Amino acid sequence: MKKVLILGSTGSIGINVLNVIKNLPGKFKVTALTVNSRIDLLEPQIYEFNPEIVVVKDNNLGEELKKRIGNKCIVYTGVEGLCRIASESDYDIFVGAMVGSAGLLPTIEAVKRGKRIALANKETLVVAGELITYLAKRHNAPILPIDSEHSAIFQCIEGEKDNEIEKIILTASGGPFLNRKKEELEKVTLAEALNHPNWKMGNKITIDSASLMNKGLEIIEARWLFGVPGEKIDVLVHPQSIIHSMVQFVDGSIKAQLGLPDMKLPIQYALTYPRRAANNFVRTNLADIGKLTFMEPDIDKFECLKLAYFAMNEGGTAPCTLNAANEIAVDKFLKGKIKFTDIPVLIRKALEKIKNYHSPDLNTIFECDRETRELVLSLN
Ligand code: NAD
Ligand code: MG
Repeated sequence: MKKVLILGSTGSIGINVLNVIKNLPGKFKVTALTVNSRIDLLEPQIYEFNPEIVVVKDNNLGEELKKRIGNKCIVYTGVEGLCRIASESDYDIFVGAMVGSAGLLPTIEAVKRGKRIALANKETLVVAGELITYLAKRHNAPILPIDSEHSAIFQCIEGEKDNEIEKIILTASGGPFLNRKKEELEKVTLAEALNHPNWKMGNKITIDSASLMNKGLEIIEARWLFGVPGEKIDVLVHPQSIIHSMVQFVDGSIKAQLGLPDMKLPIQYALTYPRRAANNFVRTNLADIGKLTFMEPDIDKFECLKLAYFAMNEGGTAPCTLNAANEIAVDKFLKGKIKFTDIPVLIRKALEKIKNYHSPDLNTIFECDRETRELVLSLN
């Protein structure tokens, strides 16, 4: 039985990871779970999966959980607890299912121990892709993508080790505003932005999907996961979200991976790789779907995608600035403090003002992250 640590077990991905594990009895044992604050959801998970250790990032809620569960399992708290569980506890697979660059330190701890990294937390690769992929090579830590596009690409390049990739084609649903005019985006509401046509996900990534920043973060994620330069990564809008991404090789042949929009499949593959495990997930019926359509993304309308290409091409700490500015801007939008169209404005200002450092070490990345957050918090 493989031992699994799940960072962010109460989120949309975390809950799906636990569902996948439950459906593969005898294959995985959950040894550790972490959450930001939702102890009401964590508590039943503790009784169902019997982890040895859990971490609650919020110190007060962590103390509250200790009172509630007595000596059922060990409870750590705070950011120190997150790093400690990654660097000391007993596990084979580290599942990064938390949201935001807060996942960076624990992920690095797991990489340094050469653990299998099943990664949904794309922000981590966006802010420190160069450093993490370097460490992963050095410590022999395989990084297996959970993000559906990257899982698709990973599956397409299986068995193609010596063959050159001409192009990666990342598909995008286009989000809820695909058919809105640019001028209309000014007035969209939070409820409309949270209403994704194909995927049910956490709030932050749902807003990123509406602004196409999610695709922006994903091109940078792909750049590091597959070692392919930015000019070889294209985005293609595919509203049905059935083709999860494609790879075009030097002979012009294109391979694709298809499936229904359901994260359970990429999660399962990251856990069971290189094997595929039988399951009872709903099968894809292409005759029912009938039509798959494609179009170019409108980067004039969705400026976030343009900014992400810019940050990727600049390199250094520019993607860290892009990500930190986006995290703060999305949070402001979720709290009703800014308009949807202010998101790229704030990110652009941050990219203009924050200095870019090349080949950054971890301290430089943290300093850039902190400085950017402070700047964007101060902007209206
Ligand atoms: P979510 O908001 O539903 O869940 C986030 C989880 O992380 C929760 O368990 C929360 O307790 C924890 N968390 C949040 N902030 C934290 C912090 N500062 N410190 C410690 N823990 C914290 O998010 P989600 O939709 O499950 O997404 C998780 C990650 O997976 C994101 O990086 C997202 O981009 C990526 N992803 C999600 C999907 C999806 O379908 N939801 C698909 C692809 C990639
Ligand atoms: Mg994705």
